Amino acid sequence: MNKDIFLTNNLSNKKEKFVPIDKKKIGMYVCGPTVYDNPHIGNARPLVIFDILFKVLKCRYGKDSVTYVRNITDVDDKIIKSSQENNISISDLTKKIINNFIDDCDFLICEIPSEQPKATEHINLMIKMITELMDKGFAYKNSKHIYFQVNKFSDYGKLSNKKLKDLIAGSRVAVSDNKKNPEDFVLWKPSIHNEPFWDSPWGKGRPGWHIECSAMSKKFLGSEFDIHGGGIDLLFPHHENEIAQSRCANDTKAFANYWVHNAFITMSGEKMSKSQGNILSIKDFKGKINGQILRLALMSAHYKQPLDWNDKLLEECKNTIEKWYNVYLPLKVPSKIPDDMMLPLYDDLNTPGYIANLHKLFDRANEGVDNDKKIFISACNFIGILNQTKKEWLDFKKKKSLISEVDILKKIELRNKARKTQNYKEADKIRDELLDKEVLIEDKDGKTSWKIK
Ligand SMILES: [Zn+2]
Repeated sequence: MNKDIFLTNNLSNKKEKFVPIDKKKIGMYVCGPTVYDNPHIGNARPLVIFDILFKVLKCRYGKDSVTYVRNITDVDDKIIKSSQENNISISDLTKKIINNFIDDCDFLICEIPSEQPKATEHINLMIKMITELMDKGFAYKNSKHIYFQVNKFSDYGKLSNKKLKDLIAGSRVAVSDNKKNPEDFVLWKPSIHNEPFWDSPWGKGRPGWHIECSAMSKKFLGSEFDIHGGGIDLLFPHHENEIAQSRCANDTKAFANYWVHNAFITMSGEKMSKSQGNILSIKDFKGKINGQILRLALMSAHYKQPLDWNDKLLEECKNTIEKWYNVYLPLKVPSKIPDDMMLPLYDDLNTPGYIANLHKLFDRANEGVDNDKKIFISACNFIGILNQTKKEWLDFKKKKSLISEVDILKKIELRNKARKTQNYKEADKIRDELLDKEVLIEDKDGKTSWKIK
């Protein structure tokens, strides 16, 4: 099999063969959450997509050869605003949301990245980088603010395919009296009132958002590394600014070599956003739906395509996993996944292609040969599916059931009595009541069995 990995690189807008800088030390940096509110299902997509990429890279280059860094933004205007609105201290708010975020990642069966640095623990490195940018003439100070001067970096706009003059004409940049040019962006700003602050050569203040990723990626992965990822909404200005800061501060021809972005999630065709009021937080699904279902749903479209989130999608994913559990057997050692099975994932992380292969493998496994079952389960496990035992899967369904087991059995008894006296109307009524509570009953060979839908 051709073991090359291909990725769509937004720097070239092409699908490219992935060639690591050092195949023993592969670096991937993904922009993580800003911890001001509970993560929503749109935030879940990059968590799962880059988790799969992490697995694929480890599969190809060895499990100790990949460093996956996902930062936590715990200082930001949105955090300050949310702490004021909710009357909670910034540290209590960020602690709470970080804990919720970690729970959500676990619920979505994502591996823990190699590093999860927090911005507030790296302010010194940001101050150092800003100082370097000033010394080299890429940044300037005005009214206690430090700005990056965009027109000093000739490659600005290469990632997002934007030209400076179009940016200004289209007012895609925040205007401020303090800036020399409207496209310049802030590296450091003064803290006012009771906003969090750090001492710096420019007075008490805090960093602009973009600089943290430049500083922390350098610490963990070096000045140049392999893959930088995130949601497509981060491509401009965040990632464009990261490139400008890092390349100017570090004096390099490159920053990250491959820029990989996942597309949005829509809700029944509409873009999901706070202003639309159609945000679904990940925690809303807990206890109601198994994390495996969400995970499969998040992988059901190619990462470059928008994914429409709706009940039908979740129902289909639930039915698929339910069916796949029919061939479940516990594995002591995973089986080798056939090379041709892996091909779609190597080819630009084609998760729907891999899922299609799983369906074919299932058909073989369903014929009853244990070895085929083992291969199928190993291939599911690789992407974080069927990772619970069948008992755990069934127990979860029982737990989320809207009626207790004792009450189900009582209802079935009543229904059987009704049937014996040929009161079929009553029997059907009880069956429908159970169905409303997601309990399916089946009569076979004179016996009635039940299962949770
Ligand atoms: Zn970032």
